[in-house]
Amino acid sequence: KPLVGNLIGEDHVNYVLMYNMLTGIRIAVSRCQAKIRRPLTTEDFSACNKYSFDIIGNELTPSAKYDFKFKDYAPWVFRELREDYFHLDPADYLLSLTAKYILSELGSPGKSGSFFYFSRDYRFIIKTIHHNEHKFLRRILTQYYEHVKSNPHTLLSRFYGLHRVKLPHGRKIHFVIMNNLFPAHKDVHETYDLKGSTVGREYPEDKAAQNPRAVLKDLNWINRGKTLEVGPEKRALLTEQLARDSELLKSLHVMDYSLLVGIHNMQRGNRDNVRSNTLRVFSPEVPNLRRKQTVKGPKSPEAVAMRRIMRSSDLVPMGTGTFKLPEEDTGERQHFIFYQDEGGFRATDEVNEDLDTIYYLGVIDILTPYNTVKKLEHFWKGLQSDRHKISPVQPTEYADRFFAFMKAVMRGGEGGARFKAD
Ligand code: ATP
Ligand code: CA
Ligand code: CA
Repeated sequence: KPLVGNLIGEDHVNYVLMYNMLTGIRIAVSRCQAKIRRPLTTEDFSACNKYSFDIIGNELTPSAKYDFKFKDYAPWVFRELREDYFHLDPADYLLSLTAKYILSELGSPGKSGSFFYFSRDYRFIIKTIHHNEHKFLRRILTQYYEHVKSNPHTLLSRFYGLHRVKLPHGRKIHFVIMNNLFPAHKDVHETYDLKGSTVGREYPEDKAAQNPRAVLKDLNWINRGKTLEVGPEKRALLTEQLARDSELLKSLHVMDYSLLVGIHNMQRGNRDNVRSNTLRVFSPEVPNLRRKQTVKGPKSPEAVAMRRIMRSSDLVPMGTGTFKLPEEDTGERQHFIFYQDEGGFRATDEVNEDLDTIYYLGVIDILTPYNTVKKLEHFWKGLQSDRHKISPVQPTEYADRFFAFMKAVMRGGEGGARFKAD
């Protein structure tokens, strides 16, 4: 079924930003992609390619509608992550993001001030991040890369790219591209953002009844008596992966991350047609692909892929505010244990038989180090509430509590209630 969003014209406040982000991605990623693969070097992790776009264009960059600067961080590292470990098809990645300049913006951004945009096929999320998060990701990129390499089934956010747009008046916008945990073709009937913290972690139940897209929290989960229904086999897999992932987060000294849980009830199916997020669609815009940009050189798989992009019949203007979402999950998800069943992880009973629920799980918002601000927050919040139940606690305690909570809420666990009681 096509999704209809509010059409946002070129006068939308973030239209120029979106245009610049997508143009930068398109040029930078295809530049790197057109080269022959080579092994990574240490320098690749701190590398940064700069592009300067203007309305005239030059050797390196085609002309663009606006003047802006673009930085592509660690392009070779992200390329390898995408291709070898996240199993993305290079052409698909660029097509999904940039073949048509359509992004939808998530209704209300969180309190961090980040903005979220979905690619038109809903597979990718662009999240604007704070400069501190940006610096942090660059600093830990080697460890993140090593972790992904040795944990092909990691539940951590899959980062596909790290970039920066600089507008002419000097404003800098940092952003990452990551996986959308939720599938395009399935309604997500309930969403929870779980941290293992119980202070203030409740979405008002009366409001939740009105809003099927509400993101519920730990206390809603506990008070509703929810369990993550996974039988012994799947429970063992999930527990092991969560243990490894939270060990990494502990060693990186981060906190405030959460397990995002989307629940699809197969009996209920898609009949409500509530996708997890409201879509606001930017005015469709066709990128100005110039012939001279066509990749030359040997017929490497990359070059072939790029030609496909350049020629794609997908580059036809849409003219309306609707777009079709894929009916099926394609590609990469089949490679991952936790995303294999209709793009997610199917619930099972005590004898490992399938139940009619699919979970969409992932550990998100993993770029917050325990810094001075968080230490102060820990101090102030700790004056009013239990110092161990508030969200900001130091990373070791955070990781252990997070992991213990997730174990407790799984089938066979003792439930989340003890996290609430004092
Ligand atoms: P804050 O720091 O205030 O928690 P934030 O701006 O850092 O907010 P996140 O915690 O990363 O934002 O995400 C906010 C919400 O966006 C999540 O609760 C979830 O509903 C949605 N979201 C984030 N990342 C993803 C993802 N990879 N897939 C699907 N939904 C996501
Ligand atoms: Ca968060
Ligand atoms: Ca955050």
